[in-house]
Amino acid sequence: AAAAVSRKIPRAVSGARRLPVGVRKPSLRVVVTGGAGFVGSHLVDKLLARGDSVIVVDNFFTGRKDNVAHHLGNPRFELIRHDVVEPVLLEVDQIYHLACPASPVHYKFNPIKTIKTNVMGTLNMLGLAKRVGARFLLTSTSEVYGDPLEHPQKETYWGHVNPIGVRSCYDEGKRTAETLTMDYHRGAGVEVRIARIFNTYGPRMCLDDGRVVSNFVAQALRKQPMTVYGDGKQTRSFQYVSDLVDGLVTLMESDHIGPFNLGNPGEFTMLELAEVVKETIDPGASVEFKPNTADDPHMRKPDISKAKALLNWEPKISLKQGLPRMVSDFQKRIMDEM
Ligand code: NAD
Ligand code: UDP
Ligand code: UDP
Repeated sequence: AAAAVSRKIPRAVSGARRLPVGVRKPSLRVVVTGGAGFVGSHLVDKLLARGDSVIVVDNFFTGRKDNVAHHLGNPRFELIRHDVVEPVLLEVDQIYHLACPASPVHYKFNPIKTIKTNVMGTLNMLGLAKRVGARFLLTSTSEVYGDPLEHPQKETYWGHVNPIGVRSCYDEGKRTAETLTMDYHRGAGVEVRIARIFNTYGPRMCLDDGRVVSNFVAQALRKQPMTVYGDGKQTRSFQYVSDLVDGLVTLMESDHIGPFNLGNPGEFTMLELAEVVKETIDPGASVEFKPNTADDPHMRKPDISKAKALLNWEPKISLKQGLPRMVSDFQKRIMDEM
């Protein structure tokens, strides 16, 4: 019993929780790792807008200072160039852990670095959460389901993942990150949340990051053919970034650990996606077929009934509504390139 007591981790009392009725909620100190990236920068906008203090920790591998440049004069905003594979000491209430390249092109560029980021980076952020008593949210991925044999995918599905393939640095990396998250919860009492994010698109994606929506949009704007990999009959479900960010914040503030699928259940083949991009940007746009990459999942569509029931969350923006908002951002940045 003595050993059990001495192993009990002291938990800092977070100033933001368990306040007496009528006492104003103080602003939170929040870390967003990967906050200079696509999803992270939109999350930072939302947290700052609601009055929180935000520290972004990013090594700028795929993120850009430009994505958060509009906050640089804000006293509640801080940007730290740091690699999460190395330990870091901070005093915070919440940790949104996003740091990890998300596009297959980027995560396959240096697979060893990707798995280190997922394992050592997540371990460090959980160690930080444990030390300061912060709540920790992991941005996991639909890739934990691999090339799924269950369709649509529910959170109870354990997945169908190749552990030695070229995508495994990412999907096995995220599966290990989930394991670490649950073990710090069960073993060290850390308050955790797990989101399994499905394909997300929107303004500020890297122009040439290799993901299908950014590729098709940039190609159509540049009057190049849209590159369809394989026969184009594989499916994905595309979520607009503001829906995702709302889901992440709702999950963090909720009493539920998860995992929760956060995605838009609208399912499209890559050929159907090319049609929507064509209608939105240029009726004359063409497609060009290219060989597909190894281990490409054949289909993907979230079952979001758990998030609907427990978080009262569901996406609001359809592909046809969201795409034009991304197109205007891409148009501006492609013009700036010229
Ligand atoms: P992104 O590549 O735009 O952002 C990732 C950010 O993490 C970048 O700013 C990058 O510089 C930073 N980063 C990478 N390695 C790091 C390291 N070792 N130390 C510090 N910073 C590091 O990708 P995104 O689309 O914004 O994805 C954000 C998170 O959401 C990722 O964890 C990703 O796995 C997850 N996710 C995204 C999608 C999606 O469709 N966008 C789908 C599933 C999961
Ligand atoms: N860690 C960190 N910041 C902190 C606390 C811990 O980066 O504020 C790192 C720490 O260096 C270690 C990891 O998180 O590599 C796990 O920490 P934990 O305390 O759980 O394990 P231990 O240090 O006992 O191995
Ligand atoms: N894809 C495509 N053309 C491209 C890029 C991707 O047809 O220019 C396909 C890819 O083969 C996959 C789907 O689009 O079937 C989604 O790929 P992405 O890299 O966006 O994300 P993933 O869901 O594979 O992580």
